[in-house]
Amino acid sequence: MQLVFATNNPNKLKEVQALLPSSITLISLKDVGCLEDIPETQATIKGNAIQKAEYIKQHYGHDCFADDTGLEVKALHGEPGVFSARYAGEQRNANDNMDKLLTKLQVKDDRSAQFKTVIALHINNQLHVFTGICEGYITKEKKGNKGFGYDPIFRPKGYESTFAEMDLGLKNKIGHRGKAVQQLVEFLNNLTQTI
Ligand code: IMP
Repeated sequence: MQLVFATNNPNKLKEVQALLPSSITLISLKDVGCLEDIPETQATIKGNAIQKAEYIKQHYGHDCFADDTGLEVKALHGEPGVFSARYAGEQRNANDNMDKLLTKLQVKDDRSAQFKTVIALHINNQLHVFTGICEGYITKEKKGNKGFGYDPIFRPKGYESTFAEMDLGLKNKIGHRGKAVQQLVEFLNNLTQTI
């Protein structure tokens, strides 16, 4: 069975492929000839993940899954959420995004936040949604140089270090994306066992 993973990141594709049964072959957007930007115009992370998976099914006819992630800060009523990548502007600069968030939180006591990843899977004409959440706090300053995005200012609950100070193995185990991928993998493993 071939399944499109709606990503242009070959590392993400390889990582998920390694967790799947050999009867499922993941193919990339490039493999199906999708070179355009897929619209992400919904108001929620879940909405965007579904929109991307449905776009591929509609335009290319393939079963597909797509992921979308955002950081939700409680004191900011869920900001930056769907705007996580372009919080400080269309230049999509991680440092600018973190600076904007740190400035906005200067006047707030509650620094709790969560990362949310939603994976939407369009398979056999049905839609399935998997959600992975990692709760934590926004630190007062940037710490660490691993990872990407908001990692230097996000400290997961129960840990003393930020994501950017952690090894990728630990981040994947406790992190939002890893949790969502785990659910997807379990679902696909069960599906292939019942066919
Ligand atoms: P995407 O949906 O995976 O493209 O993520 C959207 C944006 O959320 C990224 O551009 C980052 O700013 C942020 N983001 C997503 N995942 C992570 C993460 O694991 N750590 C830090 N920031 C992340």
